[in-house]
Amino acid sequence: MSYTNQKIGVLGGGQLGKMLGQSASMMGLQMHVLDTDKYFPAAASCMSFTEGSFKDYDDIIAFAADKDVVTVEIELVNTDALHELVKQGKKVYPQPHLLDMIKDKGLQKQFYQEKGLVTSEFVLAQDASEIKQWVLDGKLSVPFVQKARTDGYDGRGVHIVRSIGDLSNLLDVKSVIEPLVDINREIAVIVARNPQGDVSSFPVVDMEFHPTANLVEYLFSPSQVNEEIQKKAIELAESIAKEMKIVGLLAVELFLTKDNKILINEVAPRPHNSGHHTIEANITSQYEQHLRAILGMPLGDTTLIQPAVMVNLLGAPGHTGEAVYQNIDECLSTSGAHLHLYGKAITKPYRKMGHATIVDKDLDRAIEKATFVKDTLKIITK
Ligand code: ADP
Repeated sequence: MSYTNQKIGVLGGGQLGKMLGQSASMMGLQMHVLDTDKYFPAAASCMSFTEGSFKDYDDIIAFAADKDVVTVEIELVNTDALHELVKQGKKVYPQPHLLDMIKDKGLQKQFYQEKGLVTSEFVLAQDASEIKQWVLDGKLSVPFVQKARTDGYDGRGVHIVRSIGDLSNLLDVKSVIEPLVDINREIAVIVARNPQGDVSSFPVVDMEFHPTANLVEYLFSPSQVNEEIQKKAIELAESIAKEMKIVGLLAVELFLTKDNKILINEVAPRPHNSGHHTIEANITSQYEQHLRAILGMPLGDTTLIQPAVMVNLLGAPGHTGEAVYQNIDECLSTSGAHLHLYGKAITKPYRKMGHATIVDKDLDRAIEKATFVKDTLKIITK
C-alpha cells in the first residue's frame, strides 16, 4: 500500500497533534484525530476529527476500525484498547507495551536499571506515610524528589522535598523517590526509529525551565555543552531507543550534573516540546520524522540549518477564561520570529497556549529576541 493511501489515526488532539497534522498535510498523508472536543488544536490540521476519549476502550476501538496505523500525541491513553488492536493485526506505534512501561515512572526507572542505562538512584514507595516512615527511621534524608509514578505531566506530580517541613506536602500516591540531582543543565535528544530498525537523532538541545510552572520555558539549539558530552548524550538516547525497539519518536530528557555526568531523567514516546524548533530550524522536523518512522519511510536528515531558540508562550498568571493575545504585532515584527498559537479558546495560568521559534545566525541574538517575544506577548483574558 502506498504511504498516501494509509489512514493514520492519532490519539490526542492537542498542539502536538496539530503540528503532526501540519506535516501530514505537507506530505500528502491522511491523518485523523480522536479527542473529546472538536475545537481542540489538532482539529485545524487533520482530515477528520472524531469526538471521543483516548482514555475510553470502546472509543479507541471504534476510531481505529478504519485506520491503518495508530499513534499517540500523549501517553495517557487506554493501552488495553491498543493491545487489542495489535492482536487484531493493526499497526500501533509506539508499541502499547512501551506505553505501559513509559507512563509508569517506576517501571521506566526499572527498565533503565535492568538495561544498565544510567539514571539516578531510586526507590519505589507505596504512599506518603511510607515515605515519612523512611525519613523517621533514618532510611531517607532530605533533600529528595518525589515523583508520582503515573499521571504526572509538565511538572505536575513532581514534588521536591528540601526540608522536613516539605514532608507535609507529600503526594499520597505510589511514587518514585530520587536524590535531588545537582543539575548543571537539562538537555534533550529526540531519536527516531522505524520498523526496519533505522535510527536517527536530532542534535542535542539545552532546556531552561520556568521557575514556578516547572515546565520548559526556553530551548536552545545548538546546545552549548561540549561536543564530547553531546556525543555521549546522543549515544545514550539511541541506545534507549534500540533497547526498546520503539517505532516512532523517543524524546529523551537528560540531566547533565555539575560533575559532568549524564543521567537519564525520563522519556516520552512521541513528538515533544524539546523539538518544536525543528519545524523551522532543522532540515526535517520532528513531526515529519515521526510520520516517516511510523509509516516505515526512510528517516529524514535532522541537520540543524541555523541556530534557534524556542520559547513557550504561557497563559499569564491571574487570568482564566477566553484568551486574548496582546502586543502580537510587536512580536510579528521581530525578524526570524515564528509565532505558533495553538488556538486554545481558554487560557489558564501557565497553560501552554503557543510557542515562538526564533531563528538567527547568531544564537545570542536569537536569545535576545526570544526574551523580547516572551516579555511582550501577553496571553490574558478580556
Ligand atoms: P514531568 O514528567 O512532569 O516533566 P520530570 O520528571 O521531567 O517531570 O521533572 C520535572 C522537572 O523537575 C525536571 O525537568 C527537573 O527540572 C526537576 N527534577 C526532576 N527530577 C529531579 C531530580 N532527581 N533532581 C533535581 N531536579 C529534578
